Amino acid sequence: MSETAMAFAGAPLDLAENQRSTEQLTAFSKARKAQALIMHHGQFLTKNGTLATLPPMKLVGKHLYDPGPLFLGLDGNIPLFAFSLAQEDEALDLVNGTALEPIRNLALTLPPKELALAGRAKSLFDWHRAHKFCAMCGKESQVQNGGVTRKCPSCNTDHFPRVNPVVIMLVANGDNCLLGRGPEWPEGAYSCLAGFVSSGETVEEACVREVFEEVGIHVQNPTYKFSQPWPFPSQLMMGLFCEATTTEITLDKKELADAIWVSKDTVRAAFDGTDTTFLCPPPFTIAHQLLKKWIEA
Ligand SMILES: [Zn+2]
Repeated sequence: MSETAMAFAGAPLDLAENQRSTEQLTAFSKARKAQALIMHHGQFLTKNGTLATLPPMKLVGKHLYDPGPLFLGLDGNIPLFAFSLAQEDEALDLVNGTALEPIRNLALTLPPKELALAGRAKSLFDWHRAHKFCAMCGKESQVQNGGVTRKCPSCNTDHFPRVNPVVIMLVANGDNCLLGRGPEWPEGAYSCLAGFVSSGETVEEACVREVFEEVGIHVQNPTYKFSQPWPFPSQLMMGLFCEATTTEITLDKKELADAIWVSKDTVRAAFDGTDTTFLCPPPFTIAHQLLKKWIEA
């Protein structure tokens, strides 16, 4: 367990994997303490800086997107659901004074527990939207177990939510570290290099390969530090430190617009806002946490 407070992590949930029969889900939805968070088109209904919630029974009869109500799990004895409403007006009319906001806007403001719940709900709804049809036979699949699996009624294949593994690494060379920027990023924004883990490789092998592919630099001693669920749409970001044995940058221009070496002092000053060499990754990102751990070491 890491001491790092990671955004989108730490949902206080028992996923209740063995309590997801139709009867149990109905009982949970009618429980006196049950609550549902409300979404529309990937945005969350909020009020006064927190997620607006309602008892699930108050949402009966509303127009819902597939897969219908999602049972997130149990927070103690509180069953927690998420509903994705098909009509914006219907969502906004549920509670006075609410707004619909994308999760990226909420990442800096929501209490950590709420942000983690919102991240889980968003990742699951995004998965359902992209996986309505069976990948084996092409027939429309059906929701099961309160929205944590789908099953194909034609060929019986079970489908599970997809989480994509990504490595993200702090590449250090003595007192300098390597940062890159993507082609579409805001001006001045730099971050740690990252890439998807490929079939047949370890996290450490992916780290070494990605750094060489993106900037032509050899690294050694890749060491796992901590991870983050990243709901855009559903990555598991695995953070590593590694040591560069070469320093000359050869940019893969399809992946990166630029890459630079920056000193620890420059990173510290960028965190303090006293240096504008580069724009720090925001605090809700694992890149921010990797840089913070490095300058504090
Ligand atoms: Zn099928």
